[in-house]
Amino acid sequence: MKITREFVHRMPKTDLHVHLDGSLRLQTILDLAEEQGVELQGNPTNADELADVIKVGAVHDSLAAYLKGFDITLSVLQTEESLYRAAFELAEDAAKENQKYIEVRYSPTLHMEQGLSQPLIVEAVAEGLREAKRRFGIMSGQILCGIRHMDPVASLRLAELCVAFKHKGVVAFDLAGAEYDNPAADFKTSFDLIRKNNVNLTIHAGEAYGPESIHQAVHVCGAHRIGHGTRLRENGDLLNYFNDHRIPVEICLKSNVQTRACDSIESHPLPFYMSYGLRCTINTDNRLITDTTMTDEYWTAVEAYDLNIGDLRKLMINGFKSSFMPYRKKNTVTEQAALEFDNLVREFEERTGVPAITNPRLAAEIALQLSSADSTKPLVAKETLLDEAKQVVANAAQEE
Ligand SMILES: [Zn+2]
Repeated sequence: MKITREFVHRMPKTDLHVHLDGSLRLQTILDLAEEQGVELQGNPTNADELADVIKVGAVHDSLAAYLKGFDITLSVLQTEESLYRAAFELAEDAAKENQKYIEVRYSPTLHMEQGLSQPLIVEAVAEGLREAKRRFGIMSGQILCGIRHMDPVASLRLAELCVAFKHKGVVAFDLAGAEYDNPAADFKTSFDLIRKNNVNLTIHAGEAYGPESIHQAVHVCGAHRIGHGTRLRENGDLLNYFNDHRIPVEICLKSNVQTRACDSIESHPLPFYMSYGLRCTINTDNRLITDTTMTDEYWTAVEAYDLNIGDLRKLMINGFKSSFMPYRKKNTVTEQAALEFDNLVREFEERTGVPAITNPRLAAEIALQLSSADSTKPLVAKETLLDEAKQVVANAAQEE
């Protein structure tokens, strides 16, 4: 079975790395600017002109240049109503491509220009996400971001906010912003507070700086996941540490090319990481600024690296497994996603008349993924699965 874009669009998905302020709809920015009397840079009158001003989907000289588009989005995200709308619409757009669970990140510090308090900001976003859950069933959590190029005291305030809102919509703390010249270790007080309170932690690292930054994020700051990790391949020892400890990497393919974290999709380390067994997840980073969707990101990987159905399934499962949902809930949700994925494969097989899996090793691999996604069944030895899979493939060949 050939993997189609339609299959990718319909399969269950997660997005664990998506910035609220980088993922608005163009028309929403125009609407909000008009409602609020905000004059947008370049005075765009329609969505196309606005896309040009923001340089949507463009390749930039650096991460810092890429981040410029956020000045515009942030200019209209200073009220409770606008934050509610942005959060609701992001979750709605995600649900439309069958995302089941998203972790939406942003920095409340950047939404206080008109006097909003930080708790009100978090509540407005939470309300938008809750409404999306009611309407579309999509589950979500918030990740609050400290900002590297700001005073560490501002990040400490956000870490305190995370602690206060733990179990009230906030699932983790993050450190975002300009990586170069702003080491994560400078924010140690924030991370200490986060760890002391058993709050989940993910850190943007190895995007605009080398593996030292990733090392620090994990070993000095205690990160449970890493945002990007594009340059992890430069340090084999650390790479193995990630693999051995199953530390998830939040991969954002298109954004990595646009910020020059890597030269091209073809030269991205994702296929190497996957073949090495690293726990890779696929994410959008910024739906608007990067001009992408989860379907686009997966489809980019399918086309560039010639992924098979087993690769795709593994990436999807990794997304669910690496989420900051509580473990027991995560097991149930992952199992449901695996079942939905397999039913979709069956539907496509019937429609096209071509089996999705013709290779016994791949069938065994998928069976292993299935048993590890299902909390109620014990893990089966790989050899047994391989034998069973060989039999399935042989039977299928006979029927043909
Ligand atoms: Zn990011």
